[in-house]
Amino acid sequence: MQTETQSMKDLMQTKWNKRPLIISGPCSAETEEQVMETATRLAKTGKIDVLRAGIWKPRTKPGLFEGIGTKGLPWLASAKKVTGLPITVEVATAKHVQDALQFDVDMLWIGARTTVNPFSVQEVADALRGVDIPVLIKNPINADLELWTGAIERLQKVGVKQVGMIHRGFASYGNTEFRNAPMWHLPIEMKRRFPDMPLICDPSHICGNRTLLQSVAQKSIDLDFDGIMLESHIDPDNAWSDAKQQITPEKFAEMLDALVWRHENTDAKEFITALATLREQINHLDDELMTILGQRMKIADKIGEYKKNNNITILQTNRWNEILEKAYTKGEKLGLSKEFITKYYDAIHLESINHQNNIMNS
Ligand code: PEP
Ligand code: MN
Repeated sequence: MQTETQSMKDLMQTKWNKRPLIISGPCSAETEEQVMETATRLAKTGKIDVLRAGIWKPRTKPGLFEGIGTKGLPWLASAKKVTGLPITVEVATAKHVQDALQFDVDMLWIGARTTVNPFSVQEVADALRGVDIPVLIKNPINADLELWTGAIERLQKVGVKQVGMIHRGFASYGNTEFRNAPMWHLPIEMKRRFPDMPLICDPSHICGNRTLLQSVAQKSIDLDFDGIMLESHIDPDNAWSDAKQQITPEKFAEMLDALVWRHENTDAKEFITALATLREQINHLDDELMTILGQRMKIADKIGEYKKNNNITILQTNRWNEILEKAYTKGEKLGLSKEFITKYYDAIHLESINHQNNIMNS
């Protein structure tokens, strides 16, 4: 007979590695019936690996539903018994960890509001010392990769071996089309830092609505994420939390069917040769660009010397506007966006000013 922990290990070794890992369930466990019905309907799709439900909900404002609490854990345990699906909950304190372990929860996750607080992360980590359970760490609410990295390291330091990351987007001020801006370059940087660590996308909390879920999920797959965590509910409109972003288990199954799973690598010879040739061309062009940029800065140095000798300011606004306007026009013809041209020229301009500054003050 296998223990629950071992069967979770199997899941991590087979399904986890098979990629993608699919986690779904309600934002919050609300009633026993809701948990059971969600679980059985999700299991029926045959597309779900792990069942999720929030038991303790960290809410921005008081008075909102703050989770059903420990009394929801036996509901999840029953759902696991009936469906055979492993279960996962969010933990934010040592007590949460103890309660979850007592009810044989198979996997834990640390929420975005907890990852921002090293005290809380350490408390959770200390409660997990010597416990072999997978833990997924959501990115902090703010775009701070050091906090995310720090949380991962705290978990690893106490001996948690199976650590994963969940990208749930980052808060940004003002209205954007997303509840939490995806800022894809940030999870990509985390993938670079932790190449062997599973990275899961949580389109629900990125989108905050139903319409964008599919495209965000697809984008994460295209970026070679290792799985998806998505909130599903038997009656989304009447969910006690995050009603706007939840979909039914069946809708989620449809969504999964419509996704296109691409592979990072392939054995197809023709493709590999074509890719190698194109990459070679890119390397060559990048090399040329670098040489040209170096030459450009040498000229900036010379200009700096002339300006110094003639006592002229570094920044001459008219001249810069002229350069930018020209670049926009040319860029448009070449299929380069105005946003890119602006960023590119800002960076060049700054470097050029630094060069001139060094010369003038030398
Ligand atoms: C959740 O998964 O329900 C949740 C609270 O998410 P986050 O921590 O990303 O806000
Ligand atoms: Mn939620």
